[in-house]
Amino acid sequence: MRHDVVNPLYVEVDRIFNLACPASPLHYQYDPVHTLKTSVMGAINMLGLAKRANARILQASTSEVYGDPVEHPQAETYWGNVNPIGLRSCYDEGKRCAETLFFDYKRREGVDIRVARIFNTYGPCMHPADGRVVSNFIVQALRGEPITVYGDGSQTRSFCYVDDLVEGLIRLMDSPEVGDGPVNLGNPTEFTVLELAETVLRLTGSRSPIVRKPLPSDDPRQRRPQIDRARGLLGGWEPRTPLEEGLRATIAYFRTVLGAPAPRATLIHSIEREAEPLTTARHAVANGTETLRTVTANRDA
Ligand code: UDP
Ligand code: UDP
Repeated sequence: MRHDVVNPLYVEVDRIFNLACPASPLHYQYDPVHTLKTSVMGAINMLGLAKRANARILQASTSEVYGDPVEHPQAETYWGNVNPIGLRSCYDEGKRCAETLFFDYKRREGVDIRVARIFNTYGPCMHPADGRVVSNFIVQALRGEPITVYGDGSQTRSFCYVDDLVEGLIRLMDSPEVGDGPVNLGNPTEFTVLELAETVLRLTGSRSPIVRKPLPSDDPRQRRPQIDRARGLLGGWEPRTPLEEGLRATIAYFRTVLGAPAPRATLIHSIEREAEPLTTARHAVANGTETLRTVTANRDA
């Protein structure tokens, strides 16, 4: 079923994974108001559905609720340091408001909720134009284009391989009791963005130069999850895939994708097939990146 969670949805279900929302800064900033609607109205509709259908519901929250954190690493008890009016706010505040809604529906309506705060995740099947750092660097390296490091590259992230994250989400959904709060899911091994660039260059054998671009506003300086709570609640869950192993699998995937016919054509075709207004498709054709942004936003929503 293709559906935008901003609109109500009446179906019979036992479990809901509410993953709706673009997660790449490039994509969620493309239409910030729709991003907010997706998180806030989407949460209200999905919680209303969970309440009526008596379904268990899991919310994909985010490490972005910690903003530019002054506590390091980030534990679930940290309330965060978020700019309410910046370019990232549509995502950060949307996800924070969604968390509020989840806990209010739990307290007031007794809805059976699970809230995962997902830290930077990567892996095969990412879109080449996703815009986040791991896919950007791999695609740039494989195409022999410059690797775009924003700022001086000393900011840190902790990258979790998708299989590890999915395992964590499923365990969280399945666990009979998860206590009273959200659960961080991510890999606690921390790298600088520059280290990531160098690792991608080494693993691809690429000779792409590293170039510096301006640091986007409110870009968090550091990020690393504290995952003791997940370990305790989810039967000793922790990420098993080291960065290099996950990167190798992701690089292998992108080698196949980039060798295939241009994704743009496929995506435009799929827009037309879904009977979206042709003007959207034409607008998209005029601007390659917008094609991909539009489609990703629609797909994720
Ligand atoms: N909702 C939905 N599917 C359902 C039940 C509710 O999409 O199966 C939506 C409905 O549009 C409503 C929202 O979820 O606006 C919140 O529902 P709730 O019952 O909590 O609130 P109310 O309808 O009383 O405003
Ligand atoms: N970044 C970068 N080059 C890129 C894309 C991202 O240096 O081509 C940096 C970005 O400034 C941030 C980090 O990599 O410090 C992670 O960015 P991403 O967009 O993947 O996710 P975020 O964690 O910021 O939501």
